[in-house]
Amino acid sequence: MSTWAVVAAAGRGERLGFRRPKAFAPLRGRPLLAESLERLEASEWVDAIVIAAPPDWDEPSILLAEELGCGKVSACVTGGESRSESVRIALAEVPQDAAAVLVHDAARPVLPLEVIERVLAPLGEGWDGAVPGLPLTDTVKRVEAEQVAETLDRSGLVAVQTPQAFVAPALRSALAGDVAAATDCAALVERNGGRIKVVPGDRRLLKVTDAADLGLVESLL
Ligand code: C5P
Repeated sequence: MSTWAVVAAAGRGERLGFRRPKAFAPLRGRPLLAESLERLEASEWVDAIVIAAPPDWDEPSILLAEELGCGKVSACVTGGESRSESVRIALAEVPQDAAAVLVHDAARPVLPLEVIERVLAPLGEGWDGAVPGLPLTDTVKRVEAEQVAETLDRSGLVAVQTPQAFVAPALRSALAGDVAAATDCAALVERNGGRIKVVPGDRRLLKVTDAADLGLVESLL
C-alpha cells in the first residue's frame, strides 16, 4: 500500500515575467520546484513522486531531482494544456496498486510536512479525498459586468489549497472524464460523487502567481 505524490509543475507562469516556466523561477537562487520536491522527499508519508514538467523541461526537472538527492522521484512527464491534463498524464506513471495519491502545485513551494499528514489521514477513515482549506476573511461578491450581483455568505466558504489527497482509484476515475473546466482535482472527484473532507490549510501554502508573490514566499522559507 503506497502513497504517490504528483507535482503539477507544467504551467507556463507567464504572469511572472521570467523567460522560464514558473516551476523554474528563482527562489533564493534555486528553482521554485526544488522546495516542493525536498519537502515531499522528506515526508515519511510519501513513497514516490512523479513530476509533470513543462514541455522541454523534463530533463532539467530530473537533473534537479538528482542534484537535490530526491531518490523518490521515479518519473517525470511532459504536462498537458491544463493543470488537470498534466495530473492525468502524471497519474499514468502511478502503479495500479498505489493506495493514495497526493497532488501538489509546484507553485506552492512552502509545503509544511504536517499538512501532508493532515490530508492523508482522512483517507483511512472512509473519505475519498481531503483538501486543505482556509476560512475566507474578505467579503465575497459575485460580479456581473462590473456590478455586484450578489454578496455571498462567507461563513460556509473556504479557499482551497494543495496538497490534495485522494484514494487512488477515485482520482483515476475522476480524471478519466472531461477535465477541461476543473481548477482542482477535488472538483472532479466531487463531480463523480466522491466525498471530500476539508482539513485546516496553512497560510504558508501561498500560491506564486506574480513576481511580488516570490518575495512573500521567500520570506516564509
Ligand atoms: O496556473 P496556476 O498557478 O493555477 O497553476 C497551478 C499549478 O498547476 C502550477 O504549479 C502549475 O505549474 C501547474 N500546471 C500544470 N499544467 C498546466 C498548467 C498549470 O501542471 N498546463
